[in-house]
This record gives sequence, C-alpha cells and structure tokens, in this order.
Amino acid sequence: MPELRKDPIVGRWVIISTERAQRPSDFKIQKDEKKGGFCPFCYGNEAKTPPEILAYRPRGSKPNESGWDLRVVSNKFPALMVEGELNKKGDGVYDMMNGVGAHEVIVENPDHNISLANLSEDKFQNVFWAFRDRIIDLKKDKRFRYVLVFKNHGLRAGASLEHPHSQLIALPILPKTVIEELNGSKEYFSYKDRCLYCDIISQEIDDHKRVVLENEDFIVMCPFAPRFPFEFWLLPKKHSAHFEDLTKHEMGNLTIIFQRALKKLELALDDPPYNFMIHTAPLNMPNPEIYHWHIELTPRLTRMAGFERGSGFYINPTAPEVSAQFLREVDA
Ligand SMILES: [Zn+2]
Ligand SMILES: [Zn+2]
Repeated sequence: MPELRKDPIVGRWVIISTERAQRPSDFKIQKDEKKGGFCPFCYGNEAKTPPEILAYRPRGSKPNESGWDLRVVSNKFPALMVEGELNKKGDGVYDMMNGVGAHEVIVENPDHNISLANLSEDKFQNVFWAFRDRIIDLKKDKRFRYVLVFKNHGLRAGASLEHPHSQLIALPILPKTVIEELNGSKEYFSYKDRCLYCDIISQEIDDHKRVVLENEDFIVMCPFAPRFPFEFWLLPKKHSAHFEDLTKHEMGNLTIIFQRALKKLELALDDPPYNFMIHTAPLNMPNPEIYHWHIELTPRLTRMAGFERGSGFYINPTAPEVSAQFLREVDA
C-alpha cells in the first residue's frame, strides 16, 4: 500500500510508492559520455576564465596562473549580474527588480578526472573552506540576503562542464525553498520553544531506522518524507543556523562524514548524478534560534513527470528506511 508522508518542516506531502519495489540496482543508469576536449578549468587555461576571486595556492605561485589547489572565479555565463542597484519597482499587481547577484564557480581541484568523493581529505576540506570564505566575504555586500551554495554532479544533474566544480549564487531575495523551511521551523518554535530540526535529529538518533552515518558533530540521514530515492541530509547535531559559523574542529568532522556519504552513494549506485545544496540561514538573520543549517543531497535517478510538476507531489519508489539501510551497509 503506498503511503502519503508529510515533511514536518515544509508541510510537503510525498507519496512513498514501493509497489514496484525498486532495488538500488534498478537505478543504475547509463554513464554520461566522456566529452573530452578543451577544459577552461584545467591548468594552463586560467586566462580563459574570468579572473580569480579566491584561490588556495602554495606560497610563491602567482594569481591566475597554474599551481593552484582550488580556484574561485565568476561564472562566465552568470544567471545574475554583480554590478548595479536593485531598483525595486511595482507595476500594479506586478513586482520586479534588477537581476543583481553574484554567480561564482568553485573549481574544486586541478585534476580534471577526480570527483569530489575521491579527493584527498585535505582537498575535500578545501572545498568546504572555500564555501565558507566566500559566504563570509559576500555577507559584506548589503544588497544580498542569501548565499546559496550548490553542486551539480553529472550531466543529468545539470553539470555542463566535466571538471569537478561547485557553484554559489548570492541573491537579493530569499529562495522559496528556504522561506518554506523558515516558516515551518518558525511556527514549530513558536509553540514548542524548540528547534524543529534539533527535535528531528534526536528522534532520528533514537530511532536509527533512517540514519546513514553519525559522528561526534554530524548526522547523515534519509529524511522521513524524501522526494527522491536515496535522498539524504547532513545536519550538525549542535544547533547552528549559519553554515559559515563552523569551527575548525567541526569542519574536520563535516568533511569526513560527508565525503564518506558521497563515497557510499557512488558505490551503491555506480556514481549516479546528484545535486546538493547547503541550506543555511539568511545572511544577518535576527532569530538564529529557529533555523538549523543542513545539506540536502538529491540523486537524479528518477525523472520528474507531469504529475509532479502539476501537483507539487513527489512520487518516491524507494522508502527512506530502505535507502538508509542500503547506504549504511555499503562499505565505504
Ligand atoms: Zn579540466
Ligand atoms: Zn536546531
């Protein structure tokens, strides 16, 4: 019998429909064709990208030349433009403003063929330090209210360049998904006086059915009402609204557990395409007690069809308890 499940945060209903029970092997999909050819993110092609905004390089190596460990540049085809004022206007019932925002690319490492899951621990950690450094810097720009960090892995997940990279977009408005989460957790806080995410974490740790990995500071779990098979979330165990407030110690534990989770996903499903996004609190949020930052990872194993698009319901053929158990058992 399919089950309707409600996400306690945003109130979104999903349909867990395991009638045609799908095992992980049912999801293995055709590999993206290796495209090859010219890569603007490889050593020697630094001049082909906009100038670097941030780079981690050994002492003595020069900006915009080879030798870097990690590089952040503006997106050459930005979704939003960084220059200019917002110029908010109205026209009757319609509201608009200029498309001001920053769109940056984090080139995770110089090696074209090493995916995030397979980087050395140090290099993996560099990527997350870069996310943090960029958020802290963009926070100074008062036009921005939010910085969304995300990654598209694989062609089917929207990665148009093969070379491993992530992206961030700084926005003058809050993303809808974040507003929904904020509203849900604010409402919960207003009558329970507790953070909803903290309550979810402690219940999930007790239950253990949906936990994939756990360490001193973090938990990786499949959510109760996931939209997609093998969707998982990473959350800090200690309440914290802002990703960029991570301590050095926490950063170490974050990267160990998240890389292991990526590795498990890669082994379980033969390196599937996926997206992940960091959901952190809006920049300068006045009430950080109500929100709890986390990373949401959604593999791209199923395609969204008319019913999903038209209704906002997701049909998920794999129960999160099954996904979690499978990921737990993968040796990584
Ligand atoms: Zn490359
Ligand atoms: Zn919390």
